[in-house]
Amino acid sequence: MDAASCCRVFSTTQRYRLPLRRLAPRRPFCTEPTSDAFATSKRRSRGPVMAAKKAAQGMKQEDGKYKQTVDLPKTSFGLRANSVVREPELQKLWEENQVLKRVSERNTGATFVLHDGPPYANGDLHMGHALNKILKDIINRYKLLQNHKVSFIPGWDCHGLPIELKVLKSMDKEALNALTPIKLRQKAAKFAKATVTTQMKSFKRFGVWADWDRPYLTLSPEYEAAQLEVFGQMVMKGYIYRGRKPVHWSPSSRTALAEAELEYSDNHVSKSIYAAFKITNPSKPGLLEEFLPNLCLAIWTTTPWTIPANAAVAVNPELTYAVVELQSVLESESTSGGNQRKLGSILSPSCEKPFIIVAADLVSVLESKWGTKLVIQKSFPGSALEHCRYIHPVNGNECSVVLGGDYITTESGTGLVHTAPGHGQEDYLTGLKYGLPIVSPVDDEGNFTAEAGQFNGLSVLGTGNSAVVKYLDEQFSLILEEPYKHKYPYDWRSKEPTIFRATEQWFASVDGFRDAAMDAIKRVTWIPSQAENRIVAMTSSRSDWCISRQRTWGVPIPVFYHVDSREPLITGETIEHIKAIVSKKGSDAWWYMTTEELLPDKYRNKASEYRKGTDTMDVWFDSGSSWAAVLANRDGLNFPADIYLEGSDQHRGWFQSSLLTSIATTGKAPYSSVITHGFVLDEKGFKMSKSLGNVVDPENVIVGGKNQKEEPGYGADVLRLWVSSVDYTGDVLVGPQILRQMSDMYRKLRGTMRFLLSNLHDWKPENSVPYSDLPKIDKYALFQLENVVASMKDSYESYQFYKIYQILQRFAIVDLSNFYFDVAKDRLYVGGRVSFTRKSCQTVLNAHLLYLVRAIAPIMPHLAEDVWQNLPFQHTLDDGSAAEFVFNLKWPVRNEEWLSVPKDDVDFLSVILELRSEVNKILESARTGKLIGSSLDAKVYLHAENANTVSKLKELSSATNDADALHRLFITSQVEILPSLREETTSGVSYTGNFSDERTGDIWIGVARADGEKCERCWNYTRDVGSFLDHPTLCARCHGVIDLPPVPAAAAVS
Ligand SMILES: [Zn+2]
Repeated sequence: MDAASCCRVFSTTQRYRLPLRRLAPRRPFCTEPTSDAFATSKRRSRGPVMAAKKAAQGMKQEDGKYKQTVDLPKTSFGLRANSVVREPELQKLWEENQVLKRVSERNTGATFVLHDGPPYANGDLHMGHALNKILKDIINRYKLLQNHKVSFIPGWDCHGLPIELKVLKSMDKEALNALTPIKLRQKAAKFAKATVTTQMKSFKRFGVWADWDRPYLTLSPEYEAAQLEVFGQMVMKGYIYRGRKPVHWSPSSRTALAEAELEYSDNHVSKSIYAAFKITNPSKPGLLEEFLPNLCLAIWTTTPWTIPANAAVAVNPELTYAVVELQSVLESESTSGGNQRKLGSILSPSCEKPFIIVAADLVSVLESKWGTKLVIQKSFPGSALEHCRYIHPVNGNECSVVLGGDYITTESGTGLVHTAPGHGQEDYLTGLKYGLPIVSPVDDEGNFTAEAGQFNGLSVLGTGNSAVVKYLDEQFSLILEEPYKHKYPYDWRSKEPTIFRATEQWFASVDGFRDAAMDAIKRVTWIPSQAENRIVAMTSSRSDWCISRQRTWGVPIPVFYHVDSREPLITGETIEHIKAIVSKKGSDAWWYMTTEELLPDKYRNKASEYRKGTDTMDVWFDSGSSWAAVLANRDGLNFPADIYLEGSDQHRGWFQSSLLTSIATTGKAPYSSVITHGFVLDEKGFKMSKSLGNVVDPENVIVGGKNQKEEPGYGADVLRLWVSSVDYTGDVLVGPQILRQMSDMYRKLRGTMRFLLSNLHDWKPENSVPYSDLPKIDKYALFQLENVVASMKDSYESYQFYKIYQILQRFAIVDLSNFYFDVAKDRLYVGGRVSFTRKSCQTVLNAHLLYLVRAIAPIMPHLAEDVWQNLPFQHTLDDGSAAEFVFNLKWPVRNEEWLSVPKDDVDFLSVILELRSEVNKILESARTGKLIGSSLDAKVYLHAENANTVSKLKELSSATNDADALHRLFITSQVEILPSLREETTSGVSYTGNFSDERTGDIWIGVARADGEKCERCWNYTRDVGSFLDHPTLCARCHGVIDLPPVPAAAAVS
């Protein structure tokens, strides 16, 4: 039922706002298109409204005789939002009046700083951006209402590979040949700035309030200088070093990649091999000599191309290993089955079988895998194998068995790990322990170098890999080759597989400040709280941060190298000098200025001995320095920020990089609280993708898609309402169905606000009825309002906006539309223009309007402002000025008086509401059974045994204030409390039911036709209709109000 009656009333209003004669006769009553939510129900019919309607249609002129005396709602606030047109108008109004700036300046509370994580300046905005920025805006706007000064500086991340690649892709071969670094950088900057402009426009259209005139861009000279300052401080503290270490390397992009630049594919298939390395010299006398000379170590690897870089074989000293004899080969190569599984020649019948060392626990697994019989000859602990020597299968050098760590298990492989320190993190660490060489014979493009001998020039992810396998087989080193499906890191941009490769890179030594970081994490509030575990895990386990990239579009690593010794030159002085240049000219200067100009005075005469470095910084270092470039550098902000709010992937991205740079240089986390949100998926929980056709574009949600029928333009507030409705701590869903629900909810809320506005058209604040004089039902309404707004405040404070959505939904539909508004219509329309009953109701409606408009403003600022701009009276602030815009208001102050309703009354009224639902059901069957038409044709009988219940029911049914009377609450003409259920009193009552509640005991309900005659004006039945000679068709109440003078506000309270 909910908004149904609103709809009717509003439709009527619509008609009365227009000159009546312009309306064609016999038009359907409800002229607006209705959705399900607004479908008309016939259960309630408003007497006066119907009468007025008939008059309007010119049906029975006589019925409309009193229509001029009916106070129908009036408002200029449209039933339909017309958001596509109206929202930009409101945004313009805010912008022209600098509402954000003026409100923030006027607020007297502490400054609130939500620091914006910079989106990447590449491409159009998607729903993830919308979710993120709107959540931030809801928080900022709420803080404004809470009297905070709010300064929100929007940011953009402008450097990096994706933009560089986009620029390169857009150029033809000729242009590429003529490309210089500085030209590339100019094009990239232009592209980034253009994207910033487009994205900014979209963010503004979402209704996001920010300091759009002063955004921060990571490419601006002052930003770059601040970043170099952070870098310089880390250098001076000894946290930055140059080293040769394996890093994630993308051959397709020819650069090192950070963990955050990787995507893990679950479907990657590697060529895995089992290989045998021949032992020459067992370390422990007496342990293995008996098996020589044909004894091998068996290893397993999924990257055969790293075999040329092998430097050791690692075992776990805690595991047991065994020498096994390879006996009969159970299947020959030809019968080894399809699936590209291939037995090595070592297993061919003609080959003499070696003894092989594997982990004892894996013997049976390997037997079935290799299709051989493995007979254990001897077993011993892994520690006994340390320093055992074997022949490198490719270069023939002697290498050692070393002891690795817990990473060596018997979950897969052989329990012996091929160790190439140039190509793996654990291998690198084991290598450090044993002083192993860091061999990495692979170039930037992923091809073997001359160091790899015969494999020189082959691609390690392609032909090079196969060539190594083939070579091993020829050397009788290959046991088995088979495809292996596993998780594998891909370049997030090129979508190509990456490799681990040791290169000379610049690193931030996380070990130097890890403890401080872990400590700081504990002092930050993480929302949701589980997020703390994620950041702890990422920070405690991470290796040193590789911050150099071999690309052009970024902030340079400000280092010079000695031409001969290749020693880097990087001192406080050099960094300071470069920083000063960059702050004026931007980082382009690094490329167009000479080494001599870039060196400080002290080194200038030696400029010829140096060349400048060509590496740029990891873009995560850029964005990770934003606290320094923005929070610490600009007026009106705070460090640390109150809140950082981003997607949960930023635990390894921006939250992490910001934490590391800030801890390293200031010892503090850059944020007091961190809020994370999940990803936006389609309605079925699938990732959005163009190929699935399930992408929801925020722009289309707002202004509509190509096909407006399938993708209507809902406006920014519907998008924002959706953002508020989801529990963003996990992944969230959106799609056409969900958006339609949001649009329905929006319309209900709009209808609620419209009901309030339109019934206050003649309201003046001085008409307010003092609280103590209000009828019970009105006090109860204010009690509910205060409670509802208090819970909404709690939910804003805890950032649980979906709870606000739920509260609003229930309040607007159940409490207001279905009950208070429904009941209020009689008083408002026919109670008499200047009657006490209408004024007390308007007092309550006014409170609802002023409270709700603020409570919804952070989520639906356009709706709230639209309401405010259509306010039929002026609202004066405490300082005497008029509130021109809704954000001139503050969050409502808690009203203790409204909460003072005795608990007994609250309880009883809530029981009455439940009783009312029961009564409505019986009225409905009476209507179906044609006993009554509208509920006003009915009289309700009640009987209760419980004396207390009886007296309370009697008290309510005899209320004289016209508001609390029970028949008004039921919207029937009469209610009678029966002293007993004797036959003579109940015989005419054909529709009955029961209500039972422990607080009231059983209540019997009966419905019959109302007594007396129907009043022409209000449609209530009374026995006094016909007793007034001048108005024979009116009841006493109507008779008493129609002759009153039209308006005068000061006219007496009835
Ligand atoms: Zn009447």
